Amino acid sequence: MNVEICVGRQQEGLFVEWQITHYSVLDSTNLEAKRMIQQQMIVQSKPTLHGTVLVAETQIDGKGRLNRQWVSQPGTGLWFTVILKPNLPIAQASLYSFVVAVSVAEAIRELYDLAVTLKWPNDVLLHGKKLCGILLELVSCTPSVYYLVVGIGVNVNQMLMEFPQELQEKASSIAIALGKTVDSMQLLSVILERLEENCSLFETQGFAPIRSKWKKQNCVIGQEVSVQIQGQTEYIGIVDDLAMDGTLVVRTADSIRTVVAGDVSLRTKEGNYTF
Ligand code: ADP
Repeated sequence: MNVEICVGRQQEGLFVEWQITHYSVLDSTNLEAKRMIQQQMIVQSKPTLHGTVLVAETQIDGKGRLNRQWVSQPGTGLWFTVILKPNLPIAQASLYSFVVAVSVAEAIRELYDLAVTLKWPNDVLLHGKKLCGILLELVSCTPSVYYLVVGIGVNVNQMLMEFPQELQEKASSIAIALGKTVDSMQLLSVILERLEENCSLFETQGFAPIRSKWKKQNCVIGQEVSVQIQGQTEYIGIVDDLAMDGTLVVRTADSIRTVVAGDVSLRTKEGNYTF
């Protein structure tokens, strides 16, 4: 199952040595990462997992938020998980969602010059369709020590008809946008570079520079959205801002609300709300 261990990367001035393992098939890269962490907690003498990267050719049980299915067909996308052991207090862990989304967007812009945008909290979209989903999970080792399990799924080389029918309206891939297939390992390498830089930026200068990068690329501020919590539409409003704690500030007809968890759907020209 586990076919090879490749590249450990270390550059002058940067602090992560990525240990990348390729798998032909996994239930889910996040599940495998969590199993590795559990194992490490049992055998205390094992080395740190910070910087471990698990890449799967396919996932048979890939998941998004709220246990939603993440479609990860063989060989078409970049399905991977990064394990990080942050130095910041656990209260700031959820802000890594933005660090990761910004890093993926920067890598895609840099390599392919595609005008990707960010939807709260951490979807990467292209022309309003989802190109990448991110699932951030936290595993506590002790009350103050924790790992972040960062699942990233990028649609790379799928053609439209390869997506299941129900996703064809709302998903896109880099190959669809460029009209040609690309090297997903090159994409992985640039995402990891940007992630390394942005983690360092966040950990040394706080959330402000990440927030500013996220705001420059976002597609929700100033837009009308419907806010759903556990699948139910709660209210409709205009997005005002991304707050310093990562919550979304939404102005409704009679109040200012903050979205801590949930989904926001953008209003389309036709007056519907997209995913
Ligand atoms: P959201 O950010 O919308 O909550 P998640 O990150 O939880 O989404 O991802 C799950 C949802 O994404 C699924 O319900 C499905 O609609 C959609 N989805 C699943 N697989 C893919 C894919 N490969 N590309 C784009 N969208 C997908």
